[in-house]
Order: sequence, then structure tokens, then C-alpha cells
Amino acid sequence: MSSPDDRKRPNILITGTPGVGKTSFASMIAEKLNMHHANVGEVIKEKKCYLEYDESLNTHVLDEDKLLDTLEIDFDTDKISGGIVCDYHSSELFPERWFDLILVLRTSTEVLFDRLTERGYNEKKRNENMECEIMGIVLEEAKESYAPEIVQELTNNTIDEMDENLARVEAWYKQWMQERE
Ligand code: ADP
Ligand code: MN
Repeated sequence: MSSPDDRKRPNILITGTPGVGKTSFASMIAEKLNMHHANVGEVIKEKKCYLEYDESLNTHVLDEDKLLDTLEIDFDTDKISGGIVCDYHSSELFPERWFDLILVLRTSTEVLFDRLTERGYNEKKRNENMECEIMGIVLEEAKESYAPEIVQELTNNTIDEMDENLARVEAWYKQWMQERE
């Protein structure tokens, strides 16, 4: 079983409200640092980690056990000792030991409005997500679920900010590796 002490490379979770740029940023990190990108939303769809369809909420109910079993193959194996960058809008469901860094992306209300509109979200869904972002729900969840020193908030409104954020993660990664040489 992989624990923070014996992995050879760090695992990173990118979290945040839908539309803040998790998937874009995670794929940049994966490319730059040659990490494995696990887009958890896609894993859920591909492996059908659903319990049932909730008509009233117009959404599938997540089968958390199945999802964790599926992801565990990547996380708790000796063959892939770290080097995973995960992206998901929630963080509390994962075992704490899986991650060495939790990045919470944040986006301003106007920018998020435009991104969610472009994505074709209806008004109700857009408003729900904007409210979630304004209230900092995802950051709060991350802070409650992981050690405060590994949770970092990053502003991600522009491409320049994303580049700055990437440079920060790269520096963090190098330091993590050096400390374990
Ligand atoms: P999430 O995975 O959090 O839902 P995405 O990565 O799919 O978000 O990004 C949502 C939209 O915002 C996409 O159209 C993406 O191209 C755009 N986007 C993401 N990050 C930035 C950024 N830093 N600057 C400008 N546009 C961005
Ligand atoms: Mn995404």
C-alpha cells in the first residue's frame, strides 16, 4: 500500500468548483512533470461508478466505494509509486494518505459565469455553481479533510495566472523530490 513516506513521486489533487479550470490545469501539470492525469469525473463515467439516477436532482448518485476501488489500483500499488495528478470537484471522499498537495483553484464570479455559460449550463446549474464558488465551499471542504499545510488556494482567471501556478507547482515538485533524495 502506498503511503506518503514510501512513494517515490508525489500525488497531487486539483479541486475546485466546476469551471475553475481543474482539467486544463491538471493536464498541463501532467504534461510538464510527466505525471499520470486521473480525471475523476471521466473515471466515474467510464467505469460506471453510479448507484442510480436521481430524477429530482437530475444527476447520477455516485457509487463512492466502486470509485475508490477503481482509483485504488492506481494509488495503492507498488508499481505506480506516486506521480498521479487527480482532478475532481470534491476532496473529502479520498483517503488522506493519497495526496501530498491539494490545490484549490479559484475563479472570479464574472469569469466563472462566462465559462459556465459557454459550457451550456442552464441558469439553475450555473447559479448553483457560482454560489458554491462565492461561498468557498470546495476550499472549506479541502481544509476540513487535509492537513492545512498541504492545502493551497490558487487564483485561475487568466492564462498568465495558470502559467504562474504551473511554475509554482513545478518548484514545489522539485523540492519534494530533492527532500527525498
Ligand atoms: P473544470 O475541469 O474545473 O470544470 P476546465 O479545465 O474544463 O474546468 O475549464 C473550463 C473552461 O475554462 C475551459 O473552456 C477552459 O479552456 C477555460 N479555462 C481554464 N483555465 C483557464 C485560464 N486559466 N484562463 C482562461 N481560460 C481558462
Ligand atoms: Mn473538468
